[in-house]
Amino acid sequence: MAEIPRKSLSEIVASQIAAQILDETYKSGYQLPAERDLIKQFGVSRSTLREALKTLEEINLIESRHGVGRFISELNENNLAQANQMASNGETLREASRVKITSEDSPQGPHRLPVTPEKPLIIPNLKTDRLGTFSFISWWEREKVENAKVMVVGAGALGNEVIKNLALMGIGSLFIVDFDTIELANLSRSVLFRESDSGRKKAEVAAARAKELNPNVHVQYFHGDITTTLGLGIFRRMDVIIGCLDNREARLAVNRFAYWINKPWVDGAIQEFFGLARVFVPGEGACFECTLTEQARRDLSIRYSCPLLARENILLGKVPTTPTIASIIAGIESQEALKLIHNKPVEPGKVIHFNGMTNEVHTTAYTPVEDCESHWSYGDITELPLRTNTTTIKDLLNIAHRDLGPDAVIELDQELILSLNCPQCGNREEILEPISAVGFKRAHCPTCGLLRETVMTHTLNGDEDFLSRTLASVGVPDLHILRAYNTEEYRFYELTGDLDNSLHFNHFERPADETPIKLTGRIKIKDVINLKERPKITIHKPVIKISGTKKDIEDSKKAVKITISSDKKDIEES
Ligand SMILES: [Zn+2]
Ligand SMILES: [Zn+2]
Repeated sequence: MAEIPRKSLSEIVASQIAAQILDETYKSGYQLPAERDLIKQFGVSRSTLREALKTLEEINLIESRHGVGRFISELNENNLAQANQMASNGETLREASRVKITSEDSPQGPHRLPVTPEKPLIIPNLKTDRLGTFSFISWWEREKVENAKVMVVGAGALGNEVIKNLALMGIGSLFIVDFDTIELANLSRSVLFRESDSGRKKAEVAAARAKELNPNVHVQYFHGDITTTLGLGIFRRMDVIIGCLDNREARLAVNRFAYWINKPWVDGAIQEFFGLARVFVPGEGACFECTLTEQARRDLSIRYSCPLLARENILLGKVPTTPTIASIIAGIESQEALKLIHNKPVEPGKVIHFNGMTNEVHTTAYTPVEDCESHWSYGDITELPLRTNTTTIKDLLNIAHRDLGPDAVIELDQELILSLNCPQCGNREEILEPISAVGFKRAHCPTCGLLRETVMTHTLNGDEDFLSRTLASVGVPDLHILRAYNTEEYRFYELTGDLDNSLHFNHFERPADETPIKLTGRIKIKDVINLKERPKITIHKPVIKISGTKKDIEDSKKAVKITISSDKKDIEES
């Protein structure tokens, strides 16, 4: 027998009791049998029975009398209709789960029904509740799903599928990151993109379409390079990060960020008909960097003669993929994220390989590398009510010096290019921009064309001659967490003043007063019909449009009066 989610089970029990009330096995005004007898009769747990009784109480089919027990209510128009509805729903449910729970004719006996752990009873209205069916999943916790904040890094083939899945499942808030724009070749693998989107930002379009798929989901998009332009404070406020990336450097960056702020992340990779998916949880098993081969490590650490050229090479590389492998791997990634949201067990540091040519799936555990450079988590984070675009380097150094003494320095995440110097003609250009913002072209001397030397630093100690520059101007992203240290310890400072601007999840949100509110109601014409001379009522598809805030609409509803006239008298309905 297939396992039945407990919720359907309690509904089946409720429906059977309703049916027994309808056929007068239990009569109005009489006491319902004791709990233990009902438990025996239906072969369910106490909590399932109580859920069923609660349902019956909610539709006034039974009532509790304190200290006495439960009694069958007087039947009236309302509860009779609902009892009928419930009894017939139960019929469908029983058919669907192929269960009979009458004690006499169940071959395996009523006591063998599996019971899943405690879960509050919610009866979804499948006509109006788009996520209603998920409530039938025994372990689904709607509140956790609706409160979840998930970052999707990469809105390409994998990202499209993951974002689609998360939106359909009603994951509450999505933060979508990508630095790329849409070209027509993307359309073959991107369910969220249309031909007319050509040239638009992938992150923006994906976020807009996610909102369209499920308007209850809150979205925010970020068009930029994940490795340098997104503040760590954003990562810190996510529950799960899902990587939908196509290059090692970006994965390495996400891996380090996730470790620093102690967040799980899910990685996926696809090529032709092959794919893999894996979950990394800081401190549990291997991390992404641990999985790299010696060769890959060497590739990453190659010293290019020009650091600016090294960076540009990273952004190359296109991998051939299909929408089919993208949906398979993205499906696994989305499910792993769903498990993480529910605190269900995952297998961190293990990889699922899928070979679409042979349909072989295998799982392998990676060996954690002891001295892996990624294994470092930040300690307590000090939240400063400061903003990146108004706080100067000097301001932050003052705080660091106060906390850590005069030797404290600030350590930047990426190199700050101070100047470009020409060894041939002596040309010197002050830059003061992060390495990510300076292209390879600029490294060439404008006078003689030679490649200039790059002078850069990644610490700030207070001796600099640009201390009045703001943090934003030297490339610190909004809502970032900066590190300061002296010879003994580190401190971590978050520029929390940026929070409202940088993390809002309100892109493509309709302003509250434009949200259409469906007004439904019924005009009772019973009184009209009782008149001796029945008036003729003709209604030509009346449409009442009210715009304004929710309160305005409530007020208008109260004010609207519908008047129906007859020869005898006027009848008004509000
Ligand atoms: Zn590692
Ligand atoms: Zn020169």
